[in-house]
Amino acid sequence: MSTGSNLKDLQRNLYNGTLTCVDRVNEFLKTIESKRHLNVYLSVYPEEALARAREVDRKIKSKQAGKLAGLVVGLKDVLSYQEHPLQASSRILTGFIAQFNATAVQRLLDEDAIIIGRQNCDEFAMGSSNENSAFGPVLNEIDTTRVPGGSSGGSAVAVQADLCDISLGSDTGGSVRQPAALCGVIGLKPTYSRISRHGLIAYGSSFDCIGIFGKNLQDIGLVLEVIAGPDDYDSTVSHTPVPSYSNELASVIDRPYKIAYLKDAMESAALQPEIKLALEEKIEQLKAAGHQVEGINFSLSEYILPTYYILATAEASSNLSRYDGVRYGLRSNQVTNLESLYKKTRSEGFGKEVQRRILLGTFVLSASYYDAYYTKAQKVRRLIRQETQSIFSKYDFILSPTTPTTAFKIGAHVNNPLEMYLADLFSVQANVAGVPAISIPCGHDKQGLPIGIQLTADDFNESRLFQFSQVIMNLA
Ligand code: GLN
Repeated sequence: MSTGSNLKDLQRNLYNGTLTCVDRVNEFLKTIESKRHLNVYLSVYPEEALARAREVDRKIKSKQAGKLAGLVVGLKDVLSYQEHPLQASSRILTGFIAQFNATAVQRLLDEDAIIIGRQNCDEFAMGSSNENSAFGPVLNEIDTTRVPGGSSGGSAVAVQADLCDISLGSDTGGSVRQPAALCGVIGLKPTYSRISRHGLIAYGSSFDCIGIFGKNLQDIGLVLEVIAGPDDYDSTVSHTPVPSYSNELASVIDRPYKIAYLKDAMESAALQPEIKLALEEKIEQLKAAGHQVEGINFSLSEYILPTYYILATAEASSNLSRYDGVRYGLRSNQVTNLESLYKKTRSEGFGKEVQRRILLGTFVLSASYYDAYYTKAQKVRRLIRQETQSIFSKYDFILSPTTPTTAFKIGAHVNNPLEMYLADLFSVQANVAGVPAISIPCGHDKQGLPIGIQLTADDFNESRLFQFSQVIMNLA
């Protein structure tokens, strides 16, 4: 991965005339063409992106361009972009065209970002390897026999392989941070409710967050401040003021921080030894730099993953009931009556993993099991949030591995869903608790595969998360 320049630097050149947006878009289109084999983009919008680039170039000349002028963005195939296809990488949405812009997309466009294409992902954002897409797997550019992670695999590789500046993905249980770690880029999941979900295809609504991939913190901060904040179309968005993350990042305070790491995570048998080593090294460096780093116990750690999978599948089974062959996309042609319309369409339209999740979710919500699973998991979720917040009454951040292993081989876990679910072992806590978390690159394993470390902070502390990420990245 080339670290590239951040948007501020690029804009200097755009404004002094040594670079144009058209040049930039052409360059990306060329790279996209030469890297088609990675299977990142489901659609590319060349003419349109170039037309917009010309328009933004004109605005730059007349000094009327927005904050994101020149930024080239890719969208995970779960974000609504008006008059463009939207499929959640599923057959069931074949032929569906988005009717409106997601709020996040509209805000990018309003600030003159250029959207270049729609990115492959796991079907309905369910998966950890991008192997559940109806359009085939995305390949990790560092080793094309390996997965990029998921579910936002296309969005991660797009940034990794220089196929855009920034990708917007979604993170319900780790789908931005986990692929970011496996691809060696930065991935942010903000606080739950920070960004409007209007126009984001719903998976698990009490977890779903739009997340941001990039190669530098400045650009991610800038995009976050543009897309975050209240929205008339989504009543679940927080009204907590949106700071200027990019400005606050410019004044990094290298004060001693109090950092906790979870002993369970570090001692986990599932953790690849090289990742453990990389983390231990960071901990030592942080201590040497004067920060206070302490190992703590999290009494509920073994319940986090099951709680997530019970609640996320329950919510998914409800959210996905709208794909019935009547309103959207695909309709089976084997239909004889209303019931067969539903059954055939959903059996033909949904892939295996999505069907598994719907079955699981329907089961945990069924009358006889509701209390044993759904109600219980809700209670445990509350306890997990409380215990997580009690950590933040004493510490500024939690430091952990983002993933138990580096990028695994394509096909390695496809026949064992439980093994696949373990890829989310360390990322789901932030979603269950609703707090912000970021994955930043932290070296490589012996095979040259990227390692990611995860920083988690208390609600709405994205600014400090960026600042501390910068501190850690400066240590390297
Ligand atoms: N891998 C997790 C899942 O399959 C997380 C997915 C996500 O964050 N969208 O549920």
